[in-house]
Amino acid sequence: GKNIVAIVGRPNVGKSTLFNRIIGERDAIVDPKSGVTRDRHYGQAEWNGKKFTVIDTGGYVPDSDDVFESAIREQVQIAIDEADVIVFVVDAITGVTPIDIEIAKILRQTKKKVILAVNKIDNDKLELYSSQFYELGLGEPFSISALHGRKVGDFLDEVVKDL
Ligand code: GDP
Ligand code: MG
Repeated sequence: GKNIVAIVGRPNVGKSTLFNRIIGERDAIVDPKSGVTRDRHYGQAEWNGKKFTVIDTGGYVPDSDDVFESAIREQVQIAIDEADVIVFVVDAITGVTPIDIEIAKILRQTKKKVILAVNKIDNDKLELYSSQFYELGLGEPFSISALHGRKVGDFLDEVVKDL
């Protein structure tokens, strides 16, 4: 494949935060006029000597809670079609939601590699929120904190393993 890693998941789980963490802050594009960081959907990254392209699929639809479920399903389908590795991000604190279950159902049908990232595990005490996501049927959940970088290295080891 072309080493494409797509990040999927419902709004507010931390897809863009993880995207920025993976590509590194120095790559963020700042609009020279406004000084505001523009939303970016594609980025280049390298881990363990492997180069890959990261796609934040959430960037293609408004990341608000009232986004249509059909739009999320479409994002997931695009990821399945285009990516070599699909990172499915869920929110540890919110827990398993009906949309998560819908997305998992679609992802269980692909032969592509799917990594379940349980985000917002900011410290050891929050680790207990990770195991509830086994019910999504996507194997071992990887707990991470995209915001603080906690365990993102272990997660990236798994992402690039077969690239
Ligand atoms: P997206 O809609 O999936 O792209 O989610 P965002 O990346 O925009 O994040 C949604 C909110 O969750 C923001 O307020 C982030 O700061 C917050 N967030 C993202 N990652 C983490 C994390 O690891 N821990 C905590 N506590 N908050 C996070
Ligand atoms: Mg986003």
